[in-house]
Parts: sequence; C-alpha cells; structure tokens
Amino acid sequence: MNLTIDQQRLTAEIDKLATFSDAEAPAVTRVVFTPSDRKARAWVKDRCEDAGLVIHDDAIGNTFARWVGSDAHAPAVGTGSHIDAIPNAGKYDGVVGVLGGLEAIRALQRSGFRPKHSIELLIFASEEPTRFGIGCIGSRLLSGSFSPEAAKKLTDNDGATVDEVRQTAGLAGKLEDVNLPHNYYKAFVELHIEQGPILERERKPLGIVERIAAPASLRITVEGSGGHAGGVLMPDRRDALCAAAEIILAIENTARTTGAIDTVATVGICDVFPGAVNSIPARVRLSADIRDTNLQRRDAVMHALDQVCQTTSAKRQVSIHQELLNADAPAESGPAILAALGEACKKHAFPFLRMTSRAYHDSLFMSRIAPVAMLFVPCRNGYSHRPDEYSSPEDIARGALVLAETLAILSA
Ligand SMILES: [Zn+2]
Repeated sequence: MNLTIDQQRLTAEIDKLATFSDAEAPAVTRVVFTPSDRKARAWVKDRCEDAGLVIHDDAIGNTFARWVGSDAHAPAVGTGSHIDAIPNAGKYDGVVGVLGGLEAIRALQRSGFRPKHSIELLIFASEEPTRFGIGCIGSRLLSGSFSPEAAKKLTDNDGATVDEVRQTAGLAGKLEDVNLPHNYYKAFVELHIEQGPILERERKPLGIVERIAAPASLRITVEGSGGHAGGVLMPDRRDALCAAAEIILAIENTARTTGAIDTVATVGICDVFPGAVNSIPARVRLSADIRDTNLQRRDAVMHALDQVCQTTSAKRQVSIHQELLNADAPAESGPAILAALGEACKKHAFPFLRMTSRAYHDSLFMSRIAPVAMLFVPCRNGYSHRPDEYSSPEDIARGALVLAETLAILSA
C-alpha cells in the first residue's frame, strides 16, 4: 500500500475553514452553535460527502462521517477532533485532527485500501468551554462522563440552555440518545497540534501521546466587606482581594512543591467587585485549574486548596465558597494503538517522541468507552489559542500520513 497525502489540498482546506470566523484574520473565533460554527460544520460535512462518507449528527451536534468497512457490523475505528475555536484563536487547534483525519481517509481510498472495520471521522461538538463554561460537552455525553440532566442545566452567558441553543441550531433528538455503547469503537485516535513547545525543542516531528493528564477546575468566591479606601482603617478591613491573593499564591506553591513536574495549577480569572480605585474589594471570583498525570497527586493539591481556603477564611474574616466544575481522571493510551502509531512512524523512518498531554482533549473522555491514543504535530513556539498559532504544512501532512497508516493497521 502506497499512501500519499495531498498536502496542498489539506493546507487549502485548513485555510478555507479559517474563513468561517467571527474575528478578523488571522484570528479565528468560532464559538459552538453560532452561525460561523454551523456554516463551518456544514462545509466540512460537504467535504466528507465528497469523499463518499455516510454522515449523521447526534442530538448535541457531534458529526459522524463513516467509511463503511467490509464488516459493517464490526466496531469502527474512529478518528477526529473539534472545529469550534475560542475567541481570538488560531486555525489549527482541533482543525488539524478533523481535516487531517479526512485527508487520511481520502489517502487510504486513493491507495485502493479497503477497511474491514469501518473508519469513522468524528467531529465533536463544543470542545471549548467558551459558551457553557465546561469543555468537551460532546465527548462527555458520548462517553457517559456527563449526564444529559447535567448538560440540560448548563446555560450560556445569555442564559440560554443547551437545549434551546441546539434546537435553534437545528439539532433534533434527545440528549439521552447521545451516549455510545462500549463496543462502538475498536479504537479512537486523535491527531492534534501539540499546543506546547516540547516537539519543537527536541526537534522531533511527531509525538505519540501515552497519557492525558487529569484536569480539575473550580470556581472560588471570596466575600469580604467593601468600603471607602480612605475611610476604613486597616485593622477594620476584610479585603476580599487580599484574601484571594493569599489563595492564589498558595495554589501556586502547592503545585510547585508536589515534587513532580507533571503537577500544574493556574488561576486564570480574578474578577474584583466593585473594581474601583477608591473602594475596598468586597467580592472576588477566582478560577482554579489543576492538572496532573497522577490522580492522587492532583487530588492532594485540591485538598491543600481546601485547607488554605479554611485558614484564610478564619484569619481574614471572609467567607470563601468553592464550586467544583469538573474533576476528571487521567487517560492511559491503548497499547495496540500506541504500537500501530509506532509501526507507522518506523515504516517512514519518522522520528517521534513519547509524551504526555497536559492539555485535555475529547480523547480523554473517549477513553471511558474505547482504547484511545493521540498523535501530536509541532506548533511554532508552542503557541496555541492565539492568532499566531502555526503548524507547517509539512508537519501536518506528516501527521496525516502516520494517522492514515495507523487507521489502516487498526481497521484491517
Ligand atoms: Zn483542541
């Protein structure tokens, strides 16, 4: 079997998809279920149809595009990623796995290969947390990691529910029917840009992901007491921002001192109320994002955070409320997929690095119902979620080629 990737066409398709955007180029903004997102998805579905794939959407808007195998009833081999993009993002995150996956299927078709197991391209819905505050809604529902009842309670910034938004987008059916059975996929493999600097630094064109770190996120609200910045004397203050500052530094310190490089913790949001120069902060809302490849270590950081909130609350006479948004387990890649990826790289003498994904992806949730693995391609300076995100056409085509070889091995 001689596989070739149409690099020019793949590059042109990635460029074209970036034009479905609510931001001016080179930035891409494509929030789930907005007209730009729906148009982009329709365009990708047309390309899938051109490739002769059988297409359907489920109730949350995951799109399945299947190349039916000779044993149509055997579990499918899945690949894919997402096409929604956070505000002011780039054009490669997720897209490389969708259009690269489609090109991998077309390369297999051109070579004359006929799969025994169906090969299915899956375009997940709502991977980014922009609209509903939680990421990977599509794959969480597919894998039963999230209940339909919990999904129905989510609202966007305008107060619209998931049901309202998806129905406006033309999606029918019940969320209860999204969950896939455990034998639906034989394997699921996701091609993605690295979103980090390691491949570039190590001068390796490919990364085979052996595990995906366990993410947790929380919302922390600190309530103190406001007042005039001149009038309230220091002994009388219950400054919510000063308490929040102690919590932020404690989170950082805890993550730094677990003894493992894999522990990371971030406070990315700090909303101060009322937010005036001459007013003592009365309320602060923080976000905390904690990740580790080791679940016990991750949970130990969360426990330490609990303790800090208690001591800070007592010491500074503020009330602190924590709301857990998600705490997911890590994923270990499937040995058979790792072997197939390694074999595919060796066939073409492509060097690769075995690595950990600290960003989470739909594959983390798909691991609850199928063996998964991911294949990373480098991105310049490790930049992602910004307009200057960039992966070279050569690197993307190489990833698509290894993906095609891997799909061939797994679906034979
Ligand atoms: Zn992504």
